[in-house]
Amino acid sequence: MAARTPVIAGNWKMNTDVESGTALAKEISEFSGDVSGVDKIVCPPFVSISSVTSAMSGSSIQIGAQNVSANSDGAFTGEISTSMLQGLVSHVIVGHSERRALNGETSDQVAAKAITAAEAGISPILCIGEDLSVRQAGNASSFVAHQLEASLDGYADWDSLIVAYEPVWAIGTGEAATSEQAQEMTAVCREVIRKLAPSAADSVRVLYGGSVNSGNVAELLAQPDIDGALVGGASLKAEEFSKLIAAAGSD
Ligand code: PEP
Repeated sequence: MAARTPVIAGNWKMNTDVESGTALAKEISEFSGDVSGVDKIVCPPFVSISSVTSAMSGSSIQIGAQNVSANSDGAFTGEISTSMLQGLVSHVIVGHSERRALNGETSDQVAAKAITAAEAGISPILCIGEDLSVRQAGNASSFVAHQLEASLDGYADWDSLIVAYEPVWAIGTGEAATSEQAQEMTAVCREVIRKLAPSAADSVRVLYGGSVNSGNVAELLAQPDIDGALVGGASLKAEEFSKLIAAAGSD
């Protein structure tokens, strides 16, 4: 089985403005711009994509968007299409739990976004994860398996896919999943992929996300089915984010 290159992706969410985001990008680039053996991605707000890209030019850090429309163009006020993002980003987050919860995004819509992005040559970072009540009821595995399968309905471009298992109860709470919990659930994700596309299961990267920091990253990355991290809060601190990159990289 070919080794999977780890991924450290930072989701800045609705934080930073153009000026502070550019400064943060410069710092991350200085700390981590040439760390090898890891795919490094930052996902700033749309309005900062160009300036963040300039600030990181010359580094091997890639840029992602935090969302995309499944529609190609037209009367969709406030939306951003894949063709607008083509050439600007290599990746796009789809199905983040905040968008599912706050914007009512369904797995059907997430699947449509993932398909549209992949067709445009933009790799989807597809998020799934259970909330606390589901976990407490003992249904985390079946919920996540079903949510992932539904979010991949019709999806075919397995080479470009990244999956991020993000338990909702761990996002932004400072309470990360244990490495055992994260391993168990990323393995569930990989089995779903195996069912949908057997030959892709060992090459698709499956990340963990939820309160990852420099204190817990090594143990999480040591798990056999965890291929990296999707990082919120810690991605807004250049030094801390760079520690995560260093932990995943080979130098
Ligand atoms: C996220 O928003 O995807 C996330 C994992 O956030 P945090 O690292 O802050 O928990």
